[in-house]
Amino acid sequence: MGDFSPSSGPPAQLSLPLIALRDASSTDLRLARTERVHVNRNLPLGQVDWIGFDMDYTLAVYQQEAMDSLSVEVTIENLLRMGYPGYLRELRYDIRFPIRGLLIDKHLGNVLKMDRFAGIHKGYHGFTRVEREQLHQLYWKTKIRPDSDRFHWIDTLFGLSEVTSYVSIIEALEKRGERMHYERLFEDIRKAIDLAHATGEVHDRVATQLPRFIAKDEHLALTLHKLRSAGKKLFLLTNSPWDYTDKMMSYLLSDELQEYRHWPLYFDVVIVAARKPVWFNGREPFVDASAPGAVTSLERGRVYAGGNVRDFERLTGIQGSRVLYVGDHIYGDIVRSKKESTWRTAMIIQELDAELSAHERSAQAISKKLRLDEERGHQEDELRFYQRRLRAIERSSDVSDASESVRVKRGIETVRRTLREMNQEQELLERFIDDSFHPYWGSLLKESGELSSFGAQVARYADVYTRSVSCLRHYSGEQYFRSPHDFMPHEL
Ligand SMILES: [Mg+2]
Repeated sequence: MGDFSPSSGPPAQLSLPLIALRDASSTDLRLARTERVHVNRNLPLGQVDWIGFDMDYTLAVYQQEAMDSLSVEVTIENLLRMGYPGYLRELRYDIRFPIRGLLIDKHLGNVLKMDRFAGIHKGYHGFTRVEREQLHQLYWKTKIRPDSDRFHWIDTLFGLSEVTSYVSIIEALEKRGERMHYERLFEDIRKAIDLAHATGEVHDRVATQLPRFIAKDEHLALTLHKLRSAGKKLFLLTNSPWDYTDKMMSYLLSDELQEYRHWPLYFDVVIVAARKPVWFNGREPFVDASAPGAVTSLERGRVYAGGNVRDFERLTGIQGSRVLYVGDHIYGDIVRSKKESTWRTAMIIQELDAELSAHERSAQAISKKLRLDEERGHQEDELRFYQRRLRAIERSSDVSDASESVRVKRGIETVRRTLREMNQEQELLERFIDDSFHPYWGSLLKESGELSSFGAQVARYADVYTRSVSCLRHYSGEQYFRSPHDFMPHEL
């Protein structure tokens, strides 16, 4: 019974040498942050049997600048056909303007950035910054509902060109004094870009100039090979149609390694035209274009279209929690799979490179800002102390308090001056930190000391996240991806 009696002190030291307690996460410390897999939720890779990949922006990383320019151009061409003024042909646009996670206010034509509580901290109308007071007037008096019809959330890299088109056209039309219906303009832009995709125009242009549009990852083939060698089964699950997928995947993988002359050899199952996010909760059957009739098994070397997660798990006999899905689309790949299935999720965030180097550049400013916050707290305490003291003196009838009153008033003035200076310093620091990340929006994942709305989605739904699929090559198939301890405020 002695073993179970409450102990009065800490447990005895384990006899294990400390080295035995060091887990595989120490691998991480030898890697540059841009090469690491970052962990929100523990993920033992040894318990993962199947690893699935999205294609666009996951296996195939686009040259964002070339891709966005193309998207804006085809959007404008289609808008001109829809009757928009001809001078838009000369539209000046800045594809560096948008980031993921922005919110479009279709009623007022503003583009906004939110923190994780849907508080609006930054906004632009055209390329003009909306001042803080105005943001407060417009968006802090009533609860913002980002999922209502008034707003549109930009959650993909693909959606960035819609923002670029929107702000550039608003800027151009308003400069000419044109009347404007902001909501109609946004819907027209979406129609224009959707049309360019539906007609295959964008895919055709990309597929004929792949080196211009795709940033080929020299480590991709080796990464997939390494995962296969570790005993993982791999599958491709993309919304893109077969022709485009075949051209893209051939460009990325065929003839890269001797053992894999043709790209499908890397995969145990290939699914195209999948219609994610519906794929995760729909009932669409799998279709094998080369064999009519119901699909009763998913075979290596064949190509399937459509399908759904339930049939996938049934036909492969795999349990969902042993699947890791790697994608870039926070909603279509990550949130939906997380909500509708037990799949584990890895998110590719290609902006992480820039985000991490900005973090490094502004590290000193960030720690200075934290110290300043703390010092401001002390100064505010001191101000309250002086103010209480002054009220007490004013209430008292003792004339000998007169000189004390002068002293306290001077103290108040000094503290107020210090606080003003600190506020100015704080603003300069915040501006410097924001500018290190992005000239218009600051950090992708953070906002005003909080997670941004996008950062919050990543933290909540992506079990792990990383810059590129090829970062996985640094880890063994048995890697235990361990999340850092997360403390709540009461534990600190
Ligand atoms: Mg994608």
